[in-house]
Amino acid sequence: MARQPVQAAFAEARDAATLALGLGVAVALAAAGLAWFVARRLSEDLNALASAASAVEAGRPGATIPLATSNREVYRLSSSLISMTQRLLRMNEEMEAQVRRRTLELQEANQELDRQARSDPLTGLLNRRGFGAQMQFALALARRGGRPLSLIALDADHFKRINDRYGHDVGDQVLRSLARRLTARLRESDVVARMGGEEFLVLLPDTDLAMAQRIADELVHTIASEPEPEVGPITVSAGVSTLRPDAEGADTLIRRVDEALYAAKAAGRNQARTLA
Ligand code: GH3
Ligand code: MG
Ligand code: MG
Repeated sequence: MARQPVQAAFAEARDAATLALGLGVAVALAAAGLAWFVARRLSEDLNALASAASAVEAGRPGATIPLATSNREVYRLSSSLISMTQRLLRMNEEMEAQVRRRTLELQEANQELDRQARSDPLTGLLNRRGFGAQMQFALALARRGGRPLSLIALDADHFKRINDRYGHDVGDQVLRSLARRLTARLRESDVVARMGGEEFLVLLPDTDLAMAQRIADELVHTIASEPEPEVGPITVSAGVSTLRPDAEGADTLIRRVDEALYAAKAAGRNQARTLA
């Protein structure tokens, strides 16, 4: 039996072990490197997704979710996030559009309500309330500009007889026709209102008493001279006055034209009377 030194006998085994160790270390390093590389890509993708999701949540314009491809799961996650975000954005847009539509409808409804609250349904003229607001405005303007402002009150004569004779519906028709005729005769800047019943007020900005008197006479005259189709000639009486330079308000001016109107009625109707 040949005898070898121990060293030599085990040299081959030692080499094999060293090789195995070296290979093991190399494979472990390569695996670690690969794992690090894969983990880094995954972490970059997840980071990008998280930042994009925050941007979308904050509503940053143009923010979108990127498509991540580092592995299948991340790819599925990002695809789902993309479609979910698009759906949410679409729903959000639709909701905002609906809110805008509803707000507009509400504004229009409010304007219509406001208009109805200020106008007379029979004639479409301003009612007492609408007239009050216009008169305050005209009064303030006249005072500030030192301009004249006149007022005419008109009342249909013996209107009760028309209703009694032709019926309420014909009476209504005559009131509508009267309103049209008044409006047609006046300027765009004049304010015509039906104060109730068969009484009307005409506010004349930038008009002095003499001019207002002429306008009232003309209104009384034309109404008497153009018969209503269904009932024949009708007449109105009018009271005229103008704003005094003292600090009188709307109420006192209205009271004065009412007084002048009463005088016109007492004097035989179908005429205008003035109270300065
Ligand atoms: P006067 O010349 O003194 O003004 O006589 P009048 O008959 O016009 O006045 P009175 O105040 O006695 O009667 C007003 C009439 O107006 C009574 C009512 O039948 C009628 N009237 C009021 N409002 C309306 C309405 O909305 N439609 C109709 N058809 N008639 C109305
Ligand atoms: Mg009357
Ligand atoms: Mg009356």
